[in-house]
Parts: sequence; structure tokens; C-alpha cells
Amino acid sequence: MDIKDVKTQELVKKYNFKFSKSLGQNFLIDDSVLEDIVNGADVNSEDLVIEIGPGVGTLTAQILKKAKRVVSIELDSDLIPILQAELGENQNFQLVHKDALKVDFNEIIGDEKSVKLVANLPYYVTTPIIAKLLNEGYNFKSLTIMIQKEVAERINAEPNCKDYGALSLLVQYYCTTSIVRKVAPSCFIPRPKVESTVIKLEKLEKPAVEVDNEKLFFEVIRASFNMRRKTLWNGVKSISLSKELMEKAFEDAKIDPKRRGETLSIQEFANLSNAINKYMKN
Ligand code: SAM
Repeated sequence: MDIKDVKTQELVKKYNFKFSKSLGQNFLIDDSVLEDIVNGADVNSEDLVIEIGPGVGTLTAQILKKAKRVVSIELDSDLIPILQAELGENQNFQLVHKDALKVDFNEIIGDEKSVKLVANLPYYVTTPIIAKLLNEGYNFKSLTIMIQKEVAERINAEPNCKDYGALSLLVQYYCTTSIVRKVAPSCFIPRPKVESTVIKLEKLEKPAVEVDNEKLFFEVIRASFNMRRKTLWNGVKSISLSKELMEKAFEDAKIDPKRRGETLSIQEFANLSNAINKYMKN
């Protein structure tokens, strides 16, 4: 079955759709961006593609042309009848009317082997969505997402740089990253105030570093960046381990507690949390 192109402006007019700022609704109107997202995600006929926030279905229609199946998750009730009317006839399209933050993605993924996430994300929930998609261990091959330019910079940041923090480490623990393209505000209606970046996160076969206790690893990272200006020692005080054992852990990991969190590489965070974990057990 031929899949119709969906033209954002035409549909917004046809259905007299009113944009909701609080739902992060900035819809794509530039064909080259749609093409670059689908090509960047390398969507092919074996893929189940999960899309978060289809809007009026502009990007969805392009993904449907290449994927085996598309499941789109949309929160806005006003968009559901529009999407059903425009794309509902496609046998390989399924719509889930839900908050993406409350979805158990395993229920959608089932036994599928080649699963890719593609989305022009609502910017107000970018970080919680990325955290959920990575921390809950879903079987995604890749996540190709449009996000605010500054968030992409935080994801890609290296130690000793102002953008480096918990988000950089979370993503770099699970994925390799590459920038697909930059996107100007003029590519959307309404125009967002910020610039955007399409970034591809490809899941690693196994995490970037060996960590004995992932919960503790991320706790150490959070604690280290909670007070950016303070030393590591000040940050990790919140972790319940005696002063003596904590000192031993720093010694074992060969890390000076006077350093600041932003100077530690992902390997050093792994070494420190593995050392703390050892003393927590004893
Ligand atoms: N994909 C469309 C496009 O590229 O034109 C729309 C992208 S727009 C930036 C974000 C979409 O996410 C909107 O359709 C919005 O209603 C939807 N959305 C907002 N919060 C959501 C949530 N928590 N769960 C699922 N969808 C959400």
C-alpha cells in the first residue's frame, strides 16, 4: 500500500489544530530534515520503529515507507483522531495514546529483534525520556532523536568541560553517539526559541566500562555533580559509608578526593564506585 505524505501545515489547517506549548509541540515542516532523520536512523524493512510524539504524523509517514512496523506513542488526545484518520489505514501502523514516560516498552517490543527508536522529542521531557529508555534496559539498537542543541552538547561532552555531567555519563555508559544534523528554528511551526540537533545513540553490546553495582555507579555520579563547585569528597558524603572506609575506597581507586567530579573520566567513576561497593559489602 502506498503511504501518503503528510504535510504539516495542510493538516494543521484542515483539522484546525491548536498547538500546546506545554506539550512541547513544534512540528516539522522541512522535508530535508525528515529525510535526514529517517536516513540517519537507517530505518529498513526489518525494523520495528517506536516513535514518541508523532504530532500530526509528518515524520511517522516517512518512517512507515521504510520500516516493517511503526508504533507511535502520543499523549495529546486532540491528535489521536487526526493520526487515525491520516495514517490509521496502514496495517503496519499502531498508535498508543499514552504518556511515553509511563509506557512499558517491553510490551511494545515483544519478540522483535531489530528495534529502533526515532523521535522529534517534546523538549520539556527530553532528559527523563532518555533516562527511562536507557536505564530500563530495553532492546533498542539505536535511538535517533531530535533534541535541543544544548542537550546534545551535554550528551557529547568530555571531562573538564562545563557541559560534562550526569547526562553525558549516562548516555556514554550505554551508547556511542553521533550527530546526524543541526536543525534551525525555521524548520518547525511554531518556531521554537532554541536551535535543535538530531543525534543518534547506538547501544553498545556491553556498557563502556565494567561496573559491579550500576545503582551505586549512578549514585556516585549524581552525588559528584550535585555540588559542581565542591570537591568529590564533599559530594560523596551523602553515600552511607564510614569516613575511614570511604578514604580507603578513594585510595584503592587512586583518586584524589580533592578533585572535582567534572575532572573524572567514566573509567574513573567506575573505579571509584567499584571500590566503594567493595567496602559497602564488607
Ligand atoms: N513528530 C512531530 C513532528 O516532528 O512534527 C511532532 C513533534 S513535537 C516536538 C512533540 C510531540 O510529542 C507532540 O506531538 C506532543 O503532543 C507529544 N508529546 C508531548 N509530551 C508527550 C509525552 N509525555 N508522551 C508522548 N508524547 C508526548
